[in-house]
Amino acid sequence: MRKKAYVIQFGGLKVGSHSFEMEVNDEFFEDLDYSEITKADVKAEIEVLKQNNVLTLHFHLTGTVETICDRCGIESSLPIDITEKLVVKHGDVKESTEDIVVLPHGENEVDVSHFLYEFITIAVPPKRIPCEEDDAIECDYDALAKLDSIGTEEEREDSSEDINPIWKDLKKLKFKEN
Ligand SMILES: [Zn+2]
Repeated sequence: MRKKAYVIQFGGLKVGSHSFEMEVNDEFFEDLDYSEITKADVKAEIEVLKQNNVLTLHFHLTGTVETICDRCGIESSLPIDITEKLVVKHGDVKESTEDIVVLPHGENEVDVSHFLYEFITIAVPPKRIPCEEDDAIECDYDALAKLDSIGTEEEREDSSEDINPIWKDLKKLKFKEN
């Protein structure tokens, strides 16, 4: 995947500082099937400092990422504020590291979409239970109870044992007390 909006053409840039602005939104994540994040509203400001042989990129990402509560499935917005630095230079591509991009000689553009993806993914905690962190939002206990009963039924598929409806109701009560 190569999206023009995320490619910085630096060949024609003068030595000095240049500003770029990019949007990281739902569309950005649409093509990334492997992405756990699918919705975002993030502004990426990139300050590009061009020196003779080196390009230094300072990223500032602000906005929100939609996360889904791991427990009940409710969506909520997680604010992010990320600053990152990336150095771009020419040379042996194999010498690239996490924060140094080495491009083959003659290559005068750098696609930053992968880095934007990485910065955002790293900023969002892998185990997300936003309901718990935000007192204003409570887990959707009805959805939880449903999920739980589905899980229980699947687990018990092999046995002929029926789930006692009273037991289900007790489970719901238990969740409400949490
Ligand atoms: Zn929840």
